[in-house]
Amino acid sequence: MARTIVAFTRDLRLDDHAGLAIAGRSAAIVPVAVVDPIAAARLRSSPRRAAYYCGALAALEREIAIRGGRLIVRRGRTGVVLRSLARAVGASGVVWTASYDAKGVRADRDVQELLEEAGIRALIVHDAPSVAPEETGGERRGYRAFVPYFERWQQQDVVPYDTSLCGFERLDVGSEPLPVPAEFGSRYETGEGVSPHAVRTRFERYLESEILHYALARNAPADGETSHLSAPLSFGLIGARTVAAEVRSRRNDPLLLAEERLSLSLFLRALAQRDFFLQLAYFFETLDESPLQEKMRRFHFERSHASLDAWRAGRTGYPLVDAGVRELRATGWMHPRLRAIVASFLCFDLGVDWRVGRDEWERWLIEDEPALSTGNWQWIAGVGADLAAYPRIYNPVKQARRFDPAGRYIRRWIPEVAARSDRALFEPEIEARRNQLALPIFGEQSYPAPVIDHDVAARAFLERYKREVAVATSE
Ligand SMILES: Cc1cc2nc3c(=O)[nH]c(=O)nc-3n(C[C@H](O)[C@H](O)[C@H](O)COP(=O)(O)OP(=O)(O)OC[C@H]3O[C@@H](n4cnc5c(N)ncnc54)[C@H](O)[C@@H]3O)c2cc1C
Repeated sequence: MARTIVAFTRDLRLDDHAGLAIAGRSAAIVPVAVVDPIAAARLRSSPRRAAYYCGALAALEREIAIRGGRLIVRRGRTGVVLRSLARAVGASGVVWTASYDAKGVRADRDVQELLEEAGIRALIVHDAPSVAPEETGGERRGYRAFVPYFERWQQQDVVPYDTSLCGFERLDVGSEPLPVPAEFGSRYETGEGVSPHAVRTRFERYLESEILHYALARNAPADGETSHLSAPLSFGLIGARTVAAEVRSRRNDPLLLAEERLSLSLFLRALAQRDFFLQLAYFFETLDESPLQEKMRRFHFERSHASLDAWRAGRTGYPLVDAGVRELRATGWMHPRLRAIVASFLCFDLGVDWRVGRDEWERWLIEDEPALSTGNWQWIAGVGADLAAYPRIYNPVKQARRFDPAGRYIRRWIPEVAARSDRALFEPEIEARRNQLALPIFGEQSYPAPVIDHDVAARAFLERYKREVAVATSE
């Protein structure tokens, strides 16, 4: 039987795997993982991410062994490694999962070219989204706006791939040791529960009950039972098709209450947003560094600000903003509601460039999907696919009253304010003035006064926005 290499990248599972299903129809699979310099740099940038990846790859190796195969691990430039392995094992082709961010798309093309020049078939398949970009786009241009995309997305069938019949080859070719976190400068352990089996079990439990309260959870960071699927989806420990198909099927349950059905619909909308941003990055290759909206390409955001380090450290004096940052730094994840509020504060209150915020979060997030971080940061900064007439500037105090009315989330992440009254939490400017009168000391242990007056900053930003964008659109 012919042999095909399946190169695992951000698709570290065997179920519902596009590449395996397609290659496995006509060939025995030689499973390979290449730790190349681009992947290594991304892992090096976030120590928790590095540990997660190492755990996921080790789990994949075990699953392949159970299915009778042997994962071959190599380090080096992907194209060169795959070309020499294909020759060594007599594989006629190599299959791998597409990347969606500009760097990844370019790297995919380079690898494809190098393999094809050597007479080796190279097939790149869509595996990360539940609906592939071409299925919604049709033409090569993709969707720039979410609403029409979502309408189209809902009409698409989502069918997970069956990989149960794929056969693995167990070849006696040299394999290097599995990567360990220390290789990427990380001191974290690989962690429990980082395997397709564990993720699947947690997802099934979530689907059973918690997902039915998703409408509330996405607005209640203190309780926060959103799915936490971002990291498993980004490393492919579970297929997006599997998730979307099972949520759709759950929504067909005739016994659901209206609010439960709403929760499931909102969850599907979130999955569609993921596919939307993936296709956006795929079709608009300059997004990494350049705004989607032409009129915003010359809009000036600062690269720096006197309070940028305070924002980075969770010490802006706005408790909800700081709580979000501290959750991220402590866990590698931030509640979705908080991401929008914290990002808005950076872009509009401090006037700092969305790319600065994105790159900062890259150091802390476990999930690894540049297309999603860029798409969302552009959206929040008002330079991307959100077509609202004006940027949505969140008031961090009003948002705290609305989404954390008992202050539980804030108190959990900011111990310095845990003993304060609710009133003090929700009136940070007044509280700071009161503290200054009583005790004019703000040491490391005390919580800082607000670094900026939100109302003044927001108004100034909007004025500048109106001026500069009016000029940009009149040119
Ligand atoms: C400024 C900003 C930056 C972000 N950066 C990232 C990022 O780097 N990586 C990332 O995966 N998500 C990012 N998001 C989107 C979203 O906040 C996270 O996916 C979500 O917080 C993850 O938690 P969860 O898995 O519990 O999500 P849930 O609310 O349970 O949603 C389920 C899944 O839907 C997808 N999803 C939900 N919301 C979005 C969205 N707005 N855009 C795209 N997909 C979505 C995710 O895959 C998520 O796991 C960002 C959002 C903002 C506002």
